[in-house]
This record gives sequence, C-alpha cells and structure tokens, in this order.
Amino acid sequence: MLLERAYAKVNLSLDVLGERPDGYHEVDMVLQSVDLSDAVWLAAEPGDSIRIESSSTQMPLDERNLAYQAARAFLGHAEVRRAVTIGIEKRIPIAAGLGGGSADAAAVLRGLNRLLGTGFTPAELAEIGASVGSDVPFCVYNGCAVATGRGERLQRVHHDLRVWAVLLRPPVFVSTADVYRAVGEPRPRPVPSSSQVVQALQAADFDALCAAVQNDLRDVAEALYPEIAAHAERMETIACQRVYMSGSGPTLFALAPTQAKAQRIYNGLRGFMKEVYLCRFV
Ligand code: ATP
Repeated sequence: MLLERAYAKVNLSLDVLGERPDGYHEVDMVLQSVDLSDAVWLAAEPGDSIRIESSSTQMPLDERNLAYQAARAFLGHAEVRRAVTIGIEKRIPIAAGLGGGSADAAAVLRGLNRLLGTGFTPAELAEIGASVGSDVPFCVYNGCAVATGRGERLQRVHHDLRVWAVLLRPPVFVSTADVYRAVGEPRPRPVPSSSQVVQALQAADFDALCAAVQNDLRDVAEALYPEIAAHAERMETIACQRVYMSGSGPTLFALAPTQAKAQRIYNGLRGFMKEVYLCRFV
C-alpha cells in the first residue's frame, strides 16, 4: 500500500485563444499547485481489475472516475496485469475549477509507477496522462507551469515567491462545457497574460503578480451564474482586496504575501461562508 498526495491547482492566468477544429478551446494559462490535497492510496495484487474506494458521494467510483481511467491507461501502457485498488480521501472540492479529478489521475500514475517499479519518466507519465485529461500532465509535475494547447503542453516555471491563497467555493454548480461554449471572440492582446504572471513570479514581486492575475472565463461564468459575482463582491468586501476565479469556476481566491494576512482573510470569510480553505503555493 502506498500514498500519493494529489494537489489542487489554481489558474493565475487563463487566456482563451479561440476554438479548435476538435471542439476544444486553445488556451494559454499559468497553473499553480496549492497544498490543498486529496490522499490517494494504492495497492496492487495479482489479478486484473480496478476498484475505487472513497467516502465521497459526489463523484462516480466506476470507470467514469479519472483515477480509474488513469489506472487503466497506465496498465495498458505498461502492459502489466494487476488488480489495483485505489482509495481516495477527497478534500479538494469537486467540480470547483481546482482540477481535483486531474490531480487524482496524476497521483495514480505516479503511485503505480512507484508501486510496480515500472520506471517511467515524468514526461512519459505526462504523456499517458494527456489521454485521460488536459490538466493531468501538469498534475504529474505539480509546481507552476505555463500550459498551452488544450492545456496539455507545458513549460515549467521555477520561482521562489512565497504566496498563500484563501479559496472560497460558492455553492453553485458550474458546467465547464457551458462556460466554454459561451466564450465570445478572443480578446486582442499584445502579450499573453501568462508572460506578465511569469515575469512577476520570477521577479518575486507579489504586487505585480496580483496586478497580472486574470481569467477570460470569469465574465462568462459570472454572466451564466450571477451567484459567483455576488460571492466575489462579498469576498472582496471582507478581504478588502481583489479576488480571482480559478478555471471555469466557481472557486474564488484571494492571494496574500504572508500567512498572517491569509489567516485574517480566512477568519473573516469563515464567519459568513462555509467552504473556505487556507493554503499555500507548492
Ligand atoms: P475541470 O476544471 O477540469 O472541469 P474541476 O476541478 O472543475 O475540473 P473536478 O473536481 O475534476 O472538476 O470534477 C469534474 C467532474 O469530474 C465531476 O463532475 C466529477 O463527477 C467527475 N470526476 C471524475 N473523477 C473524479 C475525481 N477523481 N475527483 C473529482 N471528480 C471526478
């Protein structure tokens, strides 16, 4: 039995560059892991099956689960037969724009590679992961990266900026597909938002980072789900600062340069809202 941590991500930028012939959207984004995580337990014995155990009632435990799909893709690629049991202790909110399913899938790939001693490189695991979901390759590495294409093409970003994030998940169910469908023409931009974010991170300039964070899906998501805008407004009042949206939402986040500042924001929000998390960039 072996344990892998599956870290959530936030989008520090997300530019939508247009629709592709395959129906997906071309994006340019900065993904950053945070230390809010699921625990993924793995065990393997002789046999030929994949089983998922979890106390979560909000995700399917069959082949629709991304962790299941990752295990199937891994075993197929490695050409090994095993009975694999995956235990998922869910802490990342589901369907929240935090990439929890992709994180679990990547944790399964890393974990099975260790458990079965298959010796795949991270790049090989990322390639297997791309067949499961666009955000899975990023979750194989964690940390920070610029992701392009559908999100599967990665350029890793190394930075030393210490940042805390306070996440708020509004009680709204968001359909990622509906949000992307409602995106209009791409905004003209002389430089991608990701370059500004990366520059701020590498200069370890917290204020420049806050000024650069942006998400093309936010206006669209707020128009489709006005509750997101209402929560953002309330959160900004309580936190006394700008807040941002991750992925296709609905999770909102505030950034802080110190733990003490983040804790104050967290305490303020906890009085009013249920799903609030304090975490740190990984
Ligand atoms: P994305 O932004 O990629 O849509 P998300 O963070 O918004 O990701 P997830 O938590 O990954 O959303 O879940 C999206 C959907 O995938 C849910 O409706 C859920 O039922 C399904 N799903 C499949 N496997 C998992 C998993 N291991 N954890 C969470 N959700 C999963």
